[in-house]
Amino acid sequence: MLRTHNCGELRGKDARKHSTLAGWVQTRRDHGGVIFIDLRDRWGLTQIVFDPSHNKKTHKQAENLRREDVITATGSIKERKSGMKNKNLPTGEIEVFIDELNIINKAETPPIEVDDRKEASEEIRLKYRYLDLRRPSMQKKLILRHKVVTALREFLNGEDFLEIETPMLIKHTPEGARDFVVPSRLHPGTFYSLPQSPQLYKQILMIAGFDRYYQVARALRDEDLRVDRQPEHTQLDLEMSFAEEEDVLQIAEKMVAHVFKKVMKKELKLPFARIKYNDSMAKYGNDKPDLRFGLELEDVTEIAKKSNFEVFHKVIKKNGIVKCINAKNCGSFSRKKLDKYIAFAQEHGASGLMWMRMTDDGLESSVTKFFPPSVQKDLIKKMHAKTGDLLLLVADSFKTTNNVLSRIRVKLGKECELIDQNEFNFCFITDYPLFEWNEDEKKWDAMHHVFTMPKEEHIKYLDSEPGKVYGRLYDMVLNGIELFSGSVRTYKPDVQEKLMEIIGISKKQAEKKFGFLIEAYRYGAPIHAGFGLGIDRFVALLAGLNDIREVIAFPKTKSMEQPMDGCPSELDAHQLKELKLTIPKKNG
Ligand code: ASP
Repeated sequence: MLRTHNCGELRGKDARKHSTLAGWVQTRRDHGGVIFIDLRDRWGLTQIVFDPSHNKKTHKQAENLRREDVITATGSIKERKSGMKNKNLPTGEIEVFIDELNIINKAETPPIEVDDRKEASEEIRLKYRYLDLRRPSMQKKLILRHKVVTALREFLNGEDFLEIETPMLIKHTPEGARDFVVPSRLHPGTFYSLPQSPQLYKQILMIAGFDRYYQVARALRDEDLRVDRQPEHTQLDLEMSFAEEEDVLQIAEKMVAHVFKKVMKKELKLPFARIKYNDSMAKYGNDKPDLRFGLELEDVTEIAKKSNFEVFHKVIKKNGIVKCINAKNCGSFSRKKLDKYIAFAQEHGASGLMWMRMTDDGLESSVTKFFPPSVQKDLIKKMHAKTGDLLLLVADSFKTTNNVLSRIRVKLGKECELIDQNEFNFCFITDYPLFEWNEDEKKWDAMHHVFTMPKEEHIKYLDSEPGKVYGRLYDMVLNGIELFSGSVRTYKPDVQEKLMEIIGISKKQAEKKFGFLIEAYRYGAPIHAGFGLGIDRFVALLAGLNDIREVIAFPKTKSMEQPMDGCPSELDAHQLKELKLTIPKKNG
C-alpha cells in the first residue's frame, strides 16, 4: 500500500511515530507561514502540517496544493499542544509534520463542495456523483448499505440458504410493470426482457430442488418515477420449499432482527404483529399501517344511519360507508386548520370531511343539529370521545373513505407529534384478497402477482366470485412503509392456469408467456413460498431517509436519466444496423 495509516486512525498514542497518509485535500489553511491541511479518505480526516521550520521544501510544495488534490504525505506524528486538540475529530489529538509530499494528481476546482454543510441541486449532485459521494454523509450511507447487505447474507447463510444468481436477459416477468427490453443481435426482431424480479427463476429453482435460495438481485421496472422508486432497484429475493406462511414470516423477522442487532445495535422484539388485511383496512384504512401511534379508524355507518344527515344517507344508499377518527386532544384546532384538513380530504378524492368538537356540553359543530341526542351519545361512546377531542368523519365509497382517513390519520400523527422518530415498528399484513377489480379496464388484476396460491377454502369461488377469493399473501411493513411482499405460490398447474384466465391471460397466451414454468410444474413441484424485500427502501428507512436515491450509488433522476454518463443515449448507426433496428426520423 502507498500508505502506512488511513486518515481516520491515528491517535495520541501514535505520537513520535512516522506515518505515510494518502487522500484528498479537504481544506488548506495558511496560518502565519504554516500550512495546515485536512487530509481526507474514507476513514476520516487527519491534520497534516507544512512548517518551514520543520521542512522548507515540503512547505514550498504545499503552497500549490488546492482542494481535492490527491497526495501522499510522509512525516512524523506529533501530539497537539493542549488547547489545540480537536475533540470533535477522532484524530484530533495529533497532527503529522510532513517531510515528503507526493502530488499524485491535481484537481480542477470542484463544481460542487465536497462538504456536508452545503448541498448542491439534485441534477448537479448526480452529474458529479463522484464528488457528491466523497462527502462523509454519503460515504456513511453507502457503508450502512454494505453492512445491512452483509448482515442479511450472514443470517441467511447461517440458516442454510444458498445464494444463486439468475439471469438478467430473460423472457418476461409478470410483476405488473413494463419490462425494459434488449434487442437480440443474433435473432433480429426478437428481444430479451430485463427481470422485474427473479420470480419465475426462483420458483424453477425450487422445482429444481434448491430449497432455501436467496439472492441480492437487481429488479428493473420501466415505470414512471416517484420519490421512492427507481427503474432499477435491489431486492433481497428469497424462496423456500415445503414452507408455508408462518415459516417464511419467522425467517423474515429473525433476519430483520439480526440486521438490527448487528448494524443498528438494537434488539427488536419478536414476533412482529400479524394483522389480517381486513383488520388493517378496518382500523387503519390501508394495508401499510404506521403502528407507532394509535388514532384508529372506526366504522360508524350504523350510527350515521340513525342521523338526519342527508349526505350520510345518500352515501350509505350507494353502498358507501361512514368512518370516524378521534383526534385526541385536537378539539382546539382553529377553523383555519380544520379548513386545511377539509381541503386535504378533498384533494384525495373525498367530497368532504365533517368535524365535531367534544366539549363539556357534548358535541359541537355545524352538523350536530342533524344528530339527535341519542345518536350523538352513541357516537361519543363508540369513539370514546372526551372533552377536548375532535371527531373527523368521512362518508364515501369504501375505497375513498379508507384512503382519505388513512392519510388524515398519518397527517395527524405527524402534525400532533405522536410519532417517536427513533422507533422501528414492524408488522406483517396477511390474508389479502387475491384479486382487485380494475375499474378502468373492467377486469380483475392480481393483487400481488399471478403466482400466488388462493386459500384452499376459497378455491371454490374462483369461477363464480373471484372477489371472494383470498390469497396466501403477506407483506412486511415498517413504520407505515411496505418493505416486502411475498406469497405461497401456486404450485398446481391447473390452479395456475385458472388464475391466469381470471386476469385475462388465455391458455394460449399463458403457454406463450409462461409455458416453461407451467411445464416445469408438471414434473414435480414442491409447495414453495418466498418474498422480495426492497433493500434500497430498507436501508433508507434505517438511515432515517425518505428518498431511496440517497442510498444508491448511481441512481437515475426522476426523468430516468443519468446526468453523469448521459444515458439513455442514441446508438451509433452501425449498432442499429447490426441489430436491424430503424429509428423513425424526428418530425415524421
Ligand atoms: N417477486 C415479488 C416482487 O418482486 C416478490 C415475491 O413474491 O417473492 O415483489
